[in-house]
Amino acid sequence: MSQDTDYDVIIIGGGGAGMAAAIEAADANVSVALVEADDKLGGSTALSGGVYYAADTSVQKARGLSDSTDAMFEYYMTLNQYRVDASLARTLSENAGAGLEWLIELGVNFAPEALYSSGVESVPRGHAATGMGREIADALDREVSKRDIDVVLKSQITELLFDEEQARVTGVRIGADAITAKVVILATGGFGANQYLLNKYYPDAAAQADRAWYIGSDYCVGDGLLLGEQAGADIVGYNRGLLLTTPNFKKELEVYVPGWLVYVNREGRRFVNEMAEYAVMSGVIGAQTGGSCFAVFDDEARVTAKPNRQYEDAFAAGMISLNWVTEEIDVQCKAGKVIQADTLEQLETQCGLRPGSLQSTLDQYNQDIEAGADSAFFKDHGEMKPVATPPFYAVEIFPAIICLTSTGLRINKKTQVLDQRGQVVPGLFAAGETTGEVLGERYIGGGNSIANAIVFGRVAGQEAASETARHN
Ligand SMILES: Cc1cc2nc3c(=O)[nH]c(=O)nc-3n(C[C@H](O)[C@H](O)[C@H](O)COP(=O)(O)OP(=O)(O)OC[C@H]3O[C@@H](n4cnc5c(N)ncnc54)[C@H](O)[C@@H]3O)c2cc1C
Repeated sequence: MSQDTDYDVIIIGGGGAGMAAAIEAADANVSVALVEADDKLGGSTALSGGVYYAADTSVQKARGLSDSTDAMFEYYMTLNQYRVDASLARTLSENAGAGLEWLIELGVNFAPEALYSSGVESVPRGHAATGMGREIADALDREVSKRDIDVVLKSQITELLFDEEQARVTGVRIGADAITAKVVILATGGFGANQYLLNKYYPDAAAQADRAWYIGSDYCVGDGLLLGEQAGADIVGYNRGLLLTTPNFKKELEVYVPGWLVYVNREGRRFVNEMAEYAVMSGVIGAQTGGSCFAVFDDEARVTAKPNRQYEDAFAAGMISLNWVTEEIDVQCKAGKVIQADTLEQLETQCGLRPGSLQSTLDQYNQDIEAGADSAFFKDHGEMKPVATPPFYAVEIFPAIICLTSTGLRINKKTQVLDQRGQVVPGLFAAGETTGEVLGERYIGGGNSIANAIVFGRVAGQEAASETARHN
């Protein structure tokens, strides 16, 4: 225990970033309290797919792949058009690999055969934890409990203590109690569960109105942003996050999008490989006129729509529900979410597409199938089905599932929180989804948000511990 404060470091939020920070701070021999609003640790990290984005890892090497942190940095900056903080992107690129190896040491299994290209990178960097996000969160939770860390559950922090004379954050209020610390780390995750903050900071998500829903932790209400603002922090990264696409049949994640859907925009043109990674799909669809597109198919596809081999058993056992199977399409046809028409011209009218556009788009598509290659977007030919047998169908696809938000606190590469002048807010650090300018306008690949939480969570724990030494 610290001499003049209750703790050296108090961490608010016990998800991936908070637990990583707590472990590192405890390993640097400072006293640590980890305060969590929920009745358990884990946050959205535990709910996640557990994909971790990193370059130059032992897992890549086990697959015989050569990669570099320079290449990851270039990719990150280029895809984001340099609209992220370069020093944060550099820190992420250089340390994501070490963060992955650290998780492996803690017992998380990233099988080489599960490594995949989770964005548009040419060397695969999407490392999938075998037991998904739960495995990562459980490994961190185990390490927290091995250490002398005071874990305080069911305590939602809404107020920081601030010493006006020292101009320094000096602790937190838990209920009626003022608990003091030399350093406070904010690791409260995103704000997907707070409609007001979505309206304020993520208008693309808010614009989806009733169609949108959030799939992360209920406690991710943006408290980190509000607490940071209390202390004078700058908020950066407006209108950023990750939306996933959905036909909005039910408020469920879409686990399987078949390759036989043909996506067209309001010009009636294809604009993407329909099998592109989710990381890029919502941005591409959102950029079309109207911010959505239509998935088109014919009656032959409807009648034969069934899960592919990967999902067959789980679907038959009722473990997952799927959108693109005959029974569900028929239900949604009756509900009006699947639009049906006898001719392509009628379908265009009902969907508000450019008259005469669908016929030429689908003529080309059907010719490509016969010729053996998708000449426009190079989709896997084996997945394509002609769109030729009436009646025809169309379903509007929206980027409406809110997966994560990335407007957040401005930090430097040591994770110190900065104010609008770029000055450090003394005593305050932040890491993970509660920060801004690490994740950009483009989700560069599945896994970069957990990498963000682990990399900067660890940095926050280490830097906070050094800061307590300076503050003594
Ligand atoms: C379904 C789903 C799948 C995903 N899949 C992936 C994936 O495969 N790869 C990837 O990179 N990203 C993925 N993400 C995003 C990723 O999981 C998160 O962005 C990341 O885990 C955030 O980590 P974090 O530690 O910053 O926040 P969290 O893990 O959300 O932790 C924040 C914690 O803070 C607590 N908290 C909040 N406010 C307070 C308060 N005031 N006081 C005390 N505690 C508070 C919360 O209860 C929570 O436990 C996914 C997200 C979801 C929802």
